[in-house]
Amino acid sequence: MKPSPKQRPDYLVVGSGFFGGVFARVMAEHGLRSLVIDRRPHLAGNCYTQSQHGIEVHQYGPHIFHTSDERVWKFVNRFAKFHHYIHRVVARYGETTYSFPINLKTLEQLWGVRTPEEAAARLQAECIPHAQPQNCEEWLLANVGRQIYETFFEGYTTKQWNRSPAELPASIVRRIPIRLADNDRYFDDRFEGIPIGGYTRLFENLLDHPLIEIETGVDYLASRKELSSIAPSLVYSGAIDEFFDYRFGALDYRSLRFVSEVIDGDYQTTAIVNYTSAAVPFTRITEHKHFAGTQSSKSVITREYPDDYAPGRTPYYPVRDPQNVARYEQYRRLSLQLPVIFGGRLGSYQYFDMHQVIAQALSKAEAELALRGQVQQR
Ligand code: FAD
Ligand code: UDP
Repeated sequence: MKPSPKQRPDYLVVGSGFFGGVFARVMAEHGLRSLVIDRRPHLAGNCYTQSQHGIEVHQYGPHIFHTSDERVWKFVNRFAKFHHYIHRVVARYGETTYSFPINLKTLEQLWGVRTPEEAAARLQAECIPHAQPQNCEEWLLANVGRQIYETFFEGYTTKQWNRSPAELPASIVRRIPIRLADNDRYFDDRFEGIPIGGYTRLFENLLDHPLIEIETGVDYLASRKELSSIAPSLVYSGAIDEFFDYRFGALDYRSLRFVSEVIDGDYQTTAIVNYTSAAVPFTRITEHKHFAGTQSSKSVITREYPDDYAPGRTPYYPVRDPQNVARYEQYRRLSLQLPVIFGGRLGSYQYFDMHQVIAQALSKAEAELALRGQVQQR
């Protein structure tokens, strides 16, 4: 289907997630018109939420907004008020529920140590030193030792990525904090919260501007020829390998399957429980009502099953092992030869969180405005 915008846009923006949404907004505030399209039947990309029994359900997995970047925090607060939510997770292994991420409480549960000094001494005794740990397994053995690796990381990581942690870059797990204190927060950032009314409403506000038009249910690649003349400039936040017709081969991604059910009452006491054993086929259960403290006699819970990616499924996580990074680099170099702005998790083949995608979109929009300024001055 070819969209017919009311006026010729300056930009065709592919993808209505944070990358496309923020880029279009900044341009609109500088007098430039965008048509935002998305192949899905809704806007907001992977952040899309929908109300069920008065509960905002995160349709593509749990999304907690966190950042230490004041500029990003101020930007998103223009489009939503945030519920002051502090993300805390517990981990189930066998019949035991542990405090997670690893903190003093976890170490007390595992080893009976009570003080930071006792914990540090025991942890040091457990760790298997490695001069330059490269992969997840080496890094975890060097930083937490074998028991913690096997209890919390080995099974979960193998399920999530369908590879041994020894074949995955350490960056995947380095984002999880390890603390010798009671602090059991999942994130260390200055700002954290959940948009009141859900992410979809935030996106409706973000895209609510007279210079932005939106068409959902439109696949750029399916109508590339007709769409190429719709605007002089293209912004692309879909998968970069798909854009180039896989000419250097397909990049690897991991996909997910979400299985939700509505129950009476409450299921668990936190929004997320991680299931770290390989014997359980899903990685986590999300109970959505806890994100916003919603009072409801019903509850919506979602089990998250890692899945292989194949065309037609959603690519959620880039698998950034050395081969894929090298292949992405070929696509990135090729992309520099085109007047197309690539960005976002899929356009950059990066494991970005929301705040990082927003920061990227703000800076790409600024660079584009600067370029336009130069062009106009000539
Ligand atoms: P997306 O939101 O994926 O948007 C891209 C859009 O482009 C999609 O809607 C897609 O349909 C559309 N598109 C692609 N190709 C085409 C095409 N050819 N034609 C038309 N449309 C197209 N981040 C956090 O900060 N906190 C969290 O707690 C968190 N939890 C997460 C949990 C899960 C399970 C996942 C997968 C991610 C999580 N993230 C989290 C990351 C977050 O989802 C991303 O950083 C963010 O959504 C990326 O925005 P984006 O615009 O790059 O991509
Ligand atoms: N991880 C793990 N056990 C856990 C939680 C995370 O092994 O209980 C590993 C896993 O490899 C995961 C990575 O740490 O992909 C990052 O975890 P995070 O919770 O940040 O994942 P996301 O929310 O991005 O899916």
